[in-house]
Amino acid sequence: MLVILGCLCILVQLAQGHPSPKVTYDGHKVLKILHHTQDDYRKLLRMELQFGLDFWKLPKHVNDSMYVRVGPQHYDSFVKQLTGLNTVFSTLIEDVQDLLDSQSSPSVGQTIHESRRAASALSSGMVLNTYHRYVAINNYLDDLTQLVLPRGVTATVQSIGTSEENRDVKLIKISSPTGLAAKRGIFIDGGIHAREWVSPATVIYTIEQLAFNPKYDVGINTLLERYDVFLVPVVNPDGYEYSHTNERMWRKNRKINTGSSCVGVDLNRNFPFQWAPAIGGSTNPCFDTFSGDSPGSEAETANIVNFLRQNGQNIDAYLTVHSYGQMWLYPWGFTSALPADYLDLDSAALSAVTAIRNTHNKRYDIGSSTNVLYAAAGGSDDFAKGDTGIKYAYTIELRDVGRYGFALPTSEIIPTAEEFVAGLTALADNIYTRETGKK
Ligand SMILES: [Zn+2]
Repeated sequence: MLVILGCLCILVQLAQGHPSPKVTYDGHKVLKILHHTQDDYRKLLRMELQFGLDFWKLPKHVNDSMYVRVGPQHYDSFVKQLTGLNTVFSTLIEDVQDLLDSQSSPSVGQTIHESRRAASALSSGMVLNTYHRYVAINNYLDDLTQLVLPRGVTATVQSIGTSEENRDVKLIKISSPTGLAAKRGIFIDGGIHAREWVSPATVIYTIEQLAFNPKYDVGINTLLERYDVFLVPVVNPDGYEYSHTNERMWRKNRKINTGSSCVGVDLNRNFPFQWAPAIGGSTNPCFDTFSGDSPGSEAETANIVNFLRQNGQNIDAYLTVHSYGQMWLYPWGFTSALPADYLDLDSAALSAVTAIRNTHNKRYDIGSSTNVLYAAAGGSDDFAKGDTGIKYAYTIELRDVGRYGFALPTSEIIPTAEEFVAGLTALADNIYTRETGKK
């Protein structure tokens, strides 16, 4: 009987998707590799499955390096292959797990509003310098709608759909009663890629600044007088949660792929505009850049697609927040050709990265397709611009440039988010002035 109960217990655990043991990264190194020929580059990409490689950064231009995580069991044989190719390489991170362990642990189940009673009128009392779990993020959004915000600002929350594992995906709209009577929109999303934790953290920080403006930032008031802001902090909640519970370095969503034991689709290769797995994606579900079975096949993709198709004609800017690399990128990703109006996008991006530089002296590169050597089709910024006609579509890669990569310490959240908000307000000002001719 005990045996039967034991079996039942396991079955119930399986049925509930009981988490498998958490993956650790002991002895995993991140190598910096500079290749010299296209042929070598293709060979390196093809080694992903053979050596369990995890590409943290791909080269953006000629003579740019790629960063690759490799586990101890494959290290020697991979290095042997590298030596056989015409490459130069060095070790960027000695031990990924050491890096993760050296950081304060993420706030499992922590209540964001733990200090609500102590909070001033200029804050929700939310803990901003940590990486929150998905439930806590949603509670935060819902709580904001219940608060009386300064300056008559309102926050409304709606579900834009569910994820593959049926989690609600929430959007918050922040509006001010002052300024223009009819406002156009700015749309910001985060967390398309699961492991890029600083992305949702930055979007949450942005929501807090828009809602309370605790630093009395004139730029934020001006922005809200001209625009409504729509924000989705976590587009890919299943992957985000999985990166907290099981595999810190998970990138994709958690789609069960028929006919494969490999899980997940790279949502940023899945958007239905010029979808093409051969361009920077993959048709193999075991690859980290698997583009999905068809354009827009994923629930999480469809959530954003539907919202932007319904509202895109009233939206001036689409900003999708990723990490890392410190870049402010604009379409196209699927081709090396430039949009006809790229000079406007480039000029607005320049105002953003200048404001970023003036905040904490960090340099963000402006990427246009002319200096992006390796294209990637199916990205959300290409979709926003190409399908829904949002003129100013950008992918922002936040900090850092490789010292920590995806393992960015919590101490970097606030400065990263501060410079992003500075970039956002400068961008909005630049766009408004150009599009309306008003100051
Ligand atoms: Zn990303």
